[in-house]
Amino acid sequence: MRLGIISALAEEQQGLVDAMESPYKLIHGQREYWVGQLWEIDAVCVLSRIGKVAAAVTTTTLVEKFGVTHILFTGVAGSGDKTIAVGDIVVAESLVQHDMDASPLFPRFEVPLTGMSHFAADHGLAMRLVDAAYAFLGSDFMDAIDADEKAVFKLTRPRIHRGLIASGDQFVNDGAHIHALNAALPGLVAVEMEGAAVAQVCYELGVPCAVIRTISDNANENAAIDFMRFVKSVAARYAYYIVRRFCLQDGGGVDKDQASSESAGT
Ligand code: SAH
Repeated sequence: MRLGIISALAEEQQGLVDAMESPYKLIHGQREYWVGQLWEIDAVCVLSRIGKVAAAVTTTTLVEKFGVTHILFTGVAGSGDKTIAVGDIVVAESLVQHDMDASPLFPRFEVPLTGMSHFAADHGLAMRLVDAAYAFLGSDFMDAIDADEKAVFKLTRPRIHRGLIASGDQFVNDGAHIHALNAALPGLVAVEMEGAAVAQVCYELGVPCAVIRTISDNANENAAIDFMRFVKSVAARYAYYIVRRFCLQDGGGVDKDQASSESAGT
């Protein structure tokens, strides 16, 4: 496995590049690609920047120029359903571009000439992310997130949801808009601005991908309040620990921090 890890914002990927073994940086197409090893997995970390085009070109470059075999997207998203709260984790089963609409020539949401509106995430990768997210919540969450931040964002018992993630070139901060998207897209769990572009490119290039997002806001009029604080103090921690758990799963990976702290205790 050579794993590509994409985030849109620097704060979403904080700590992962620092955790890389013997990293080196390559600049291509105005983006910094960090190549190295993460818990003994070959990895390339990159910031796509925001939006579907940015995500699509970054994904293509990861595959065509850096030879990644699997892609993860980790970041934040707005809640797509009233049962899903800030601090919850969503893992995509499939992804749709909510602003794609070539009707009446093609059905709403369908990507013209593909016959598809929903692009599936890779089931195995998604389940591995779900397992990593459960391990994070069960073992790391308590100590990984500052108590003040937990209080501010009312993070008591975060939950994990699987379902449909909708992407569009819009920061959704309008209650009526998110309500309409929820009604039009059964199974919607989150809205964001990159995932479905990554999924389409991966589908077309035959590369498995998965998307995991921490819910940062309710996609309504309050969405921008405290957004960056949440990304920095909460979502960045989630991403770091979940990717670490993801890499350490199914053998191979050796956690050097863990190994040294355990031997120090004996
Ligand atoms: N305020 C930020 C802009 C962030 S745009 C800034 O000044 O830099 C929002 C980013 O978070 C996108 O990458 C998107 O994928 C995700 N996101 C979080 N909440 C969202 C929402 N309600 N609607 C759309 N994207 C959202």
